[in-house]
Amino acid sequence: MRFAFLQQWLRSQATTDRSPALAIPRPEFTGPTALTDHLQHTLRNRISCTGIGLHSGAKVSLTLHPADADTGIVFVRGDLDGERAIVPATWRHVVDTMLCTTIGNDDGVRVATIEHLMAALHGCGIDNAIVEVSGAEVPIMDGSAAPFVFLIECAGLAVQDQPRRVLRIRRKVEVQTGAGRASLAPAKDFSLGFEIEYNNKLIARQRLNVRPLDIFKTEICRARTYGFEHEVEALRARGLARGGSLDNAVVVSGDTVLNKDGLRYRDEFVRHKVLDAMGDLYLAGGLIRGHFEGQRAGHGLNNQLLRALFADPSAWVWEDAGEAAPRRASWEQALAATA
Ligand SMILES: [Zn+2]
Repeated sequence: MRFAFLQQWLRSQATTDRSPALAIPRPEFTGPTALTDHLQHTLRNRISCTGIGLHSGAKVSLTLHPADADTGIVFVRGDLDGERAIVPATWRHVVDTMLCTTIGNDDGVRVATIEHLMAALHGCGIDNAIVEVSGAEVPIMDGSAAPFVFLIECAGLAVQDQPRRVLRIRRKVEVQTGAGRASLAPAKDFSLGFEIEYNNKLIARQRLNVRPLDIFKTEICRARTYGFEHEVEALRARGLARGGSLDNAVVVSGDTVLNKDGLRYRDEFVRHKVLDAMGDLYLAGGLIRGHFEGQRAGHGLNNQLLRALFADPSAWVWEDAGEAAPRRASWEQALAATA
């Protein structure tokens, strides 16, 4: 087994990092919800792709591997050996949020630009996966999550025998910096509101209020990352965004888009912010049952929000998805009974 060190590491984590659900008393029944899939899922098969890193411009390959129940999403640097190659995708491991979300471990090993892949794993309902990357950055692909959704769909999903854990928000938590604001508040399901405003006639003010798990594949996952022409030049001057091009980002110049084919959605900008938030929030370690509200929020604020949330144990509780949702098996039994 190529990842023998990883199996060992996972066993060593079993009683520490992924144990909060065990330490907390089981919550009361909270009524019906849209989160009906109560069991964990992984990929049915391994699947790979290659692309370039947005900031390094280097060619990287990415392989998504199935993983055991309760593994979560774990990145492994395929170019390094041993346990130092392992970087778990959690809010605690976020080490940099400039331009993208970067995770790292105590050995200083990093993986950058994880957010669009994390959004795809979130939107496709993958609880457990090992993500092997050949370098320090996830390939940018077309700047959206759609290529990762395609990969996951090609690999297929496998249902696992452990209950899916859901993070239920019990009290509103809010963070703020300058004009940016982000909050999580109690809600029956996962819902998300986002608003952006630019002093730019093309984008201006865009707002979206969605239940993202219902519409992720059709309305959100194709929204691309975006930037302004003057910013792109400044980044290039600093040696960043070397892999950036009109093939993997929407570039706004004045009140127009430089990309030949224009926008994929009229409000592609705010849809991409919803996509980013979905990726960043999945670093909570599972699905969220609560309402996220973001105003001009970015990766930094999204991570600050999770840190503020977890700092207050009265604001959240892990529960089994099945505790508030009807079990699919019982519907199947009910159908069989009426057939
Ligand atoms: Zn993004």
